[in-house]
Amino acid sequence: MKTIDDFNFENKRALIRVDFNVPLNDSFEVTDATRIISAKPTIIKVLEDGGSCVLMSHLGRPKGVQEEFSLKHIIPKIEDILGVEVKFATDCVGEEAETMASDLQPGQILLLENLRFHDEEKQGDEAFAEKLSKLGDIYVNDAFGTAHRAHASTTIVAKFFPEAKCFGYLLAKEIDSIKKVMEDGEKPVLAVLGGAKVSSKITVIENILDKVDHLIIGGGMTFTFIKAQGGEIGDSICEEDKMELALDILEQAKSKNVQVHLPVDVVAANAFSNDTETQIVDVMHIPAGWQGLDAGPKSIENFDKVVKACKTILWNGPLGVFEMENFAKGTIALGDSIAEATAEGAFSLVGGGDSVAAVKQFGFEKKVSYVSTGGGAMLESLEGKTLPGIAAILS
Ligand code: AMP
Repeated sequence: MKTIDDFNFENKRALIRVDFNVPLNDSFEVTDATRIISAKPTIIKVLEDGGSCVLMSHLGRPKGVQEEFSLKHIIPKIEDILGVEVKFATDCVGEEAETMASDLQPGQILLLENLRFHDEEKQGDEAFAEKLSKLGDIYVNDAFGTAHRAHASTTIVAKFFPEAKCFGYLLAKEIDSIKKVMEDGEKPVLAVLGGAKVSSKITVIENILDKVDHLIIGGGMTFTFIKAQGGEIGDSICEEDKMELALDILEQAKSKNVQVHLPVDVVAANAFSNDTETQIVDVMHIPAGWQGLDAGPKSIENFDKVVKACKTILWNGPLGVFEMENFAKGTIALGDSIAEATAEGAFSLVGGGDSVAAVKQFGFEKKVSYVSTGGGAMLESLEGKTLPGIAAILS
């Protein structure tokens, strides 16, 4: 696996695909700069080698050229974080970009305008990718968040750099973390899968059964499994058409010697609201008119024991409706357990969807081994798929 450390960038221009798809407020100010901060080590390495950087990214989902999606809005933030002046090309391809890229001096940075102002980006257009390729000497992919897309800048462009392409630090770290869980994780290996629906996690569950010793299933998914086993789930969220599949998953787990842990009790509410009556009930006997919105105290205790017994932990999806304070306890408790296991030497990876938001919201970010930067890309990796952006560098 070629990383940025395999190259010396002295007098070279690095064409770096970063993920600067950051949230902006109404005044076009960056409200969360995590993604820019995450790309910093890669950019600094190139500059310190004596090279220059051409940064390319998308921002939002523009339809053609739309001023509000211009990457120019984020220049002050990038300059702030990197401490280097950022030049800007108002189109990501064409004469202006080419001249500015070829005029770059060591230590300088050029940011290209939003790639998605051109439809060819998402279409993975080869001619467009070739135009991008003219802007650098070495192609660096450091955008995990789009690595599952075969877009021009994430995948196709790599073919124009057969000998000069590599992963940036961020992408390399993502790949390493997934490998640590899925391939060479120290046993026992645990996956915690929560979130709303079974349907969005089926392929992940099926793939993961071959890799783990323990599987905790929590969140809204729980109730499809409970009802399938004859439990009364009241008004809890349930995918009736996935009940058979749930039983099949439990069977598969048994035959693969995977221990499945479901909640035994839940915090049930008589409405989907933070300010409503709640009670702790047995998960198999949720009264009519009530719905399970969080893991109960006994479940939390059980999960804690499982987490602490494991050496490798993957966490994807919250254990309850953590957006509402009264149903966040299970998710917070799980975060605490994983943080403690990590402090004791376990490797923990949090990734895919809402668990990342939960981990950030409740301050666990620095207490787990790695928090993935890519939702969809992480899910597809856990499903066992080869991501096109990664394959393009490896080929
Ligand atoms: P996902 O994107 O699949 O990780 O799902 C996350 C969502 O699942 C969050 O918005 C949670 O509020 C929701 N969720 C978790 N537990 C429950 C539950 N018991 N009932 C309904 N929604 C839930």
